[in-house]
Formats: sequence, C-alpha cells, structure tokens
Amino acid sequence: MQTSIKRKLVVVSIVYWFLLAYIIAALVWWFISLEKQNQVMADLKIEQLSSTTEKATLSADYQKAINAIEFDKNRNTTKYVSEGITFLALILIGAVFVYRAVHEQMKLQVQQQNFMMAITHELKTPIAIARLNLETLQKHQLEETKRQKLIQMTLQETNRLNNLASNILVSSQLEGGRYRLAKEELNFSDLVKNCVQDFTRRFPDRLWQTEIEPELDIEGDPLLLEILVNNLLENAIKYSPRNGVIGCQLAHTRSQVIFSVTDQGHGIPDKEKKKIFEKFYRIGSEQTRTTQGTGLGLYLCKKIADDHGTGIEVTDNIPTGCNFIVRFAAS
Ligand code: ADP
Repeated sequence: MQTSIKRKLVVVSIVYWFLLAYIIAALVWWFISLEKQNQVMADLKIEQLSSTTEKATLSADYQKAINAIEFDKNRNTTKYVSEGITFLALILIGAVFVYRAVHEQMKLQVQQQNFMMAITHELKTPIAIARLNLETLQKHQLEETKRQKLIQMTLQETNRLNNLASNILVSSQLEGGRYRLAKEELNFSDLVKNCVQDFTRRFPDRLWQTEIEPELDIEGDPLLLEILVNNLLENAIKYSPRNGVIGCQLAHTRSQVIFSVTDQGHGIPDKEKKKIFEKFYRIGSEQTRTTQGTGLGLYLCKKIADDHGTGIEVTDNIPTGCNFIVRFAAS
C-alpha cells in the first residue's frame, strides 16, 4: 500500500475508534445518570410516603405503595436497559457499515493508483517497442527473416495496445450504461475460431490444443464476446510457461454452448478465485508481480458474461493451471 494512503488510513482509523469509543462512553454515561435519577426519584417517593403515613409504616396500604414505587423503578430500569441495548446495536451496525465503506474506499483508491501506474506502463511499453522497431526497419537494410521478425513483434505490440484500449473503453461504456448491447444470432464457433487463429498466428511458438465444434450458434454481442474470448486467451498465454499447453474448447449440450480456456500455469489459489473478477484486482503485490496488466480483463469478462445472462467460473486444471468456463444458452 502506498505510504500516503497508509498514513491516511491510520489517521482515519484513529479518528474512527476515538469517535466510536466516545459515542459508546456517552451511551453508558446516559444510562448511569438515568439509573441514578431513577433511584433518587424512588428514594424521594419512599421518603415522602414515610413522612405522610408515619404511624402506619407497617400497614398493608403502605407496603402496597412501596411495592408500586419499586415496580415503577424496576420498569424504568428495564426501559433504559432495552433502549440502551437498541441504541448500542444501532451504533454498532452503523460502525461496522462505516468501517467497511471506508476500507472499501481505501482499497479502491489503492487499486486505482496501481491501475494508473500499470496503464502508464502498459501504454508506453508497446509504443516504445513499436517505434524502435519501425526506426530500425527505416534505418537498416535487414535480411528478410529479421525484417519479418521485427514486423511480427510490432504487430504483437499494437495488438496489445488495441486490446488494452478496447478493455478500457468498453468497461467504461458498460459501466456508464452507454453501451447498447447487440443481441444478435451469431455463429460462436466462427468467432472463437477467428480469435484462436489470430492468437496462433501471433504466438506460433506456443503449444495450442483446440477443440471447437462447428456451427454452434448463440445470441449475443459479437464485439463483447470477442473481447471475452481474447481476454481469456491472452491470460492463458500471460500466466503460463512457454512449454505449457493452452487449450480452447467449444462444445455443446442439449441446452448449452460451453466455452472454456485452459492453461498449465501456476493456477489460481482458492481464496483468490472470486476476487480475480473484481475491478483492478491483481494477485500479489506490485513488488512480487512479474507480469504486466491492469486488472481489468477478467472484470470485463465477468461483466460481459453477466450481460449475456450467464456467468464465468474458474476451476483448477489437472495437473496444473486453471480452467475458465462460460456456459451460454444455445439458440
Ligand atoms: P491482468 O491480467 O491485467 O492483471 P485480469 O483481470 O485479466 O488482469 O486478471 C486478474 C488477475 O487474475 C491477474 O492479475 C492474475 O493474477 C490472475 N489470473 C488471470 N488469469 C490467470 C491465469 N490464466 N492463470 C493464473 N492467474 C490468472
């Protein structure tokens, strides 16, 4: 966590605990003073009764009056206790709510700062590489294989840039409700096949295992579905070793079209499996992470899956890695 935010969190925590302690102490003080007042009132009433009915202190009427005063006093005590407990419960519920909200806010602030740093790097790196490659091509007469390699690298970087721009644009449009989801009947098999072909062309040295059943149709938005497929394939490449097999399957049951992407990377720990779909969330800390990213990809995949009336799940791949699955309703 950045030191400025850490310091802010410490100050906010101190103020928070001080205010909470003050409110609870005020409540306890309120109870004690009311209870004291109650006792004084009861004593006064008994004193008054004793002075007016001096001779008959032992009479049944006197005892009855005393009992009534005691009853009143006890009733008041019960009222103060129950009111006190209700107030305390409300204060504690409010306190938990505020505590959570503040921590969520701080977490979001940290993630946004990380995102800004990541995005600056993610934008600058491909631009710098592409520029360097183009300058090299312009200045030197390279042999054909070297030339092709540089062009290939430049294309990869521009694709990365394009993906990043799509992710940022689409997520802000989806969130702002400015994106009109197109619900059209489409050949999902072709869409997945094209995405995979694009990846195999960009990463020919990776091991691909694809099983895509032909002519599977679903109803959805082609642009969003392409982003979903691309993000999952991109992650499989990013988070698995060079010699690991990347799988992409598209199959169907009677009612569903099931799309999945598997890899043989280090996988995702169980406690992180839900969090990875949160906006800007990235596993590990800025110090321990070795891969670049913005934490937007899976958030967007989940949003797209949700908007298509389905969800996205992640399970462990056997023997290693993970398996992302999206089940669409067959049309
Ligand atoms: P980004 O890849 O830009 O960090 P994502 O939203 O795509 O953001 O992923 C969120 C996090 O989930 C990643 O930072 C990574 O730690 C983890 N993750 C995503 N896909 C995989 C995968 N295939 N294998 C292992 N970890 C993954």
